[in-house]
Amino acid sequence: MNIFEAIDKLITEHGSASILKEHVSFLRNKIDMLTSENNVLKDEINSMKLNTTSLEKQIQGINEDNKNLEINNSNLESQLNAVHGNNPDKHACDHCGSARLKRSGSRHSGKKLAGITIKDALYTCDDCGKESAFTIIPK
Ligand SMILES: [Zn+2]
Repeated sequence: MNIFEAIDKLITEHGSASILKEHVSFLRNKIDMLTSENNVLKDEINSMKLNTTSLEKQIQGINEDNKNLEINNSNLESQLNAVHGNNPDKHACDHCGSARLKRSGSRHSGKKLAGITIKDALYTCDDCGKESAFTIIPK
């Protein structure tokens, strides 16, 4: 090996080592950056998991509220039907005794009470189809 070959070898080896060092340094920086980004993303995931748990609890609470409201609504509907249904006073058919009566109108009963004309409420029976009359007491 002459002096020029030795110098050339020295330059080549030194050059490669230097380039390799740069590459390693670049990769280390890249790994540090990615590790840091990964930690940030892990924190975000943990935060989102906490939010999800909180939202699931809220949804569960809302579902329970909704169930209670449906029960209240059903109770109110029953009360409303009892007051404003087809046969709120629970009259029984004059002909067959059924309580499945539907108000079909009213007529003057021909009676008076303390000078006030008394009316009869007319109901049609859903079971036998006949009409029944019940005196409406003035309130
Ligand atoms: Zn009837």
